[in-house]
Amino acid sequence: MQEKIYDALIVGTGPAGMFAALELIKLKPELKILMSEKGSKRDFIRDRANRTSGFGGAGAFSDGKLTLSSKVGGQLLDILGEEKFNELMNYVDSRYVEFGGNNPVEFPQNSKKIKVLKERALKAGLETVVYPVRHFGTDKAFNIIESIWNYLKEKKVEILVNCPVESVQRNQGKLSVILNNGEEILAQNIILAPGREGEDWLLGQARALNLKVVPGIVDLGVRVEKRAEFLKHLTDSDYLGLHDLKFIYYTKSDNKVRTFCTCPYGFVTTETYGNVVTVNGESYTNKKSENTNFAILVSSEFTEPFKDATGYGKYIARLANLLAGEGKVIVQRLGDLKDGKRSYPEGLAKNIVKPTLQETTPGNLGRVLPATILNSILEMLKKLEVVIPKINDRDTLIYGVEVKFYSSQVGINKNFQTLISGLYIGGDGSGRTRGLLQSSMTGVIIARDIIEKGVKNGGD
Ligand SMILES: Cc1cc2nc3c(=O)[nH]c(=O)nc-3n(C[C@H](O)[C@H](O)[C@H](O)COP(=O)(O)OP(=O)(O)OC[C@H]3O[C@@H](n4cnc5c(N)ncnc54)[C@H](O)[C@@H]3O)c2cc1C
Repeated sequence: MQEKIYDALIVGTGPAGMFAALELIKLKPELKILMSEKGSKRDFIRDRANRTSGFGGAGAFSDGKLTLSSKVGGQLLDILGEEKFNELMNYVDSRYVEFGGNNPVEFPQNSKKIKVLKERALKAGLETVVYPVRHFGTDKAFNIIESIWNYLKEKKVEILVNCPVESVQRNQGKLSVILNNGEEILAQNIILAPGREGEDWLLGQARALNLKVVPGIVDLGVRVEKRAEFLKHLTDSDYLGLHDLKFIYYTKSDNKVRTFCTCPYGFVTTETYGNVVTVNGESYTNKKSENTNFAILVSSEFTEPFKDATGYGKYIARLANLLAGEGKVIVQRLGDLKDGKRSYPEGLAKNIVKPTLQETTPGNLGRVLPATILNSILEMLKKLEVVIPKINDRDTLIYGVEVKFYSSQVGINKNFQTLISGLYIGGDGSGRTRGLLQSSMTGVIIARDIIEKGVKNGGD
């Protein structure tokens, strides 16, 4: 078997992997870089079902909301400090613009109206978080990924698709990976950026390499869908222009509940993690529905004796799939959920809000969600009435379940290097990010560290 030695080998081609490659090639064009991706080079029409795996990672079919703030999308503020965070955020943003993401930044203009909204929310016990967003939409996000692919190819970065990395090896100070065809590839630096899709795989590698692992947390909840008219006073640019609504509430039982990923005039979608199908949302630049959707999520953390937050989230999601039928999620009218009964197709047909997702089964989320989570969601919907009139009405649609995993955290330093010199973990797989901006930022941080160290590393 022939040995190949690269300066950098990147496992996973999501935002973290792509931005690592972009920065490495920018700082040192002569570097020999290999990217290995277990999914395919996707086609926008044909491959929409696979949202989380393939060139571009989960970013390729994301809603393309670049949240320009340290308040959401990860923990990099704690690692970098404010000045460095802002500097890197602006840099990453400018690179997205360079590759075609030149949509205007939407920042809530009318501060007096925002103040009134915040006051009203506060009186109901809701905290309002407001931040600027550059929204590409799913269609444009995909085009950006295409441009990055073309650019990397032009710069002679080697990209292997349909090529999962089986394992990471460290032998006598040398780092290498074994591909699924058995081939061993050596590299001075290995960047593991497998996203949440590759979390289980990453943890297995970390354990085999004797790296310390701290368990993650999981956010579990539902997607809420309403006619867009009821939210336009918040979302439309000629009103408040809040593209992403972020309200946070602590329930009577001290659960933290938040709204997440608002998709004005958007569509409810599904996403797949192995054999589990969960709910999500998206909106487009050039295609609009009559509805607006957003998630309500409840955070769950586990300590002793059970630590597997991801396993817990998947178990609940799997239960929804079991009741809905293979590959499907549950949709329910809020009125039925409150009455403790399932929804039926006849009832949904008469509903004012028409579902934008078809792969659903009308059912009963009360049979899926644990009481502590369900009660928290219902409590939150009641509170949200003060800022979104009629959201707590019976015709509001509830889809379930939506799950956001925070990967377990493998020990890394502030440059995202593990205890093994030359072995880095970036993006959502690091457990420190959960969005396009911050995962991309980790790629840049890693690339700059590799260059600063003179590229030659190698597993000490
Ligand atoms: C439907 C959806 C909508 C979203 N919308 C938004 C949004 O609007 N705004 C936002 O900020 N964030 C959004 N996100 C989150 C965002 O997409 C992720 O935070 C981001 O993509 C994480 O980047 P990453 O590079 O860490 O990993 P990922 O993008 O998950 O990429 C990891 C890649 O690694 C590959 N991989 C895994 N294991 C291996 C292996 N062993 N060998 C080779 N390859 C492997 C996977 O196939 C995948 O392609 C959304 C996510 C989803 C799923």
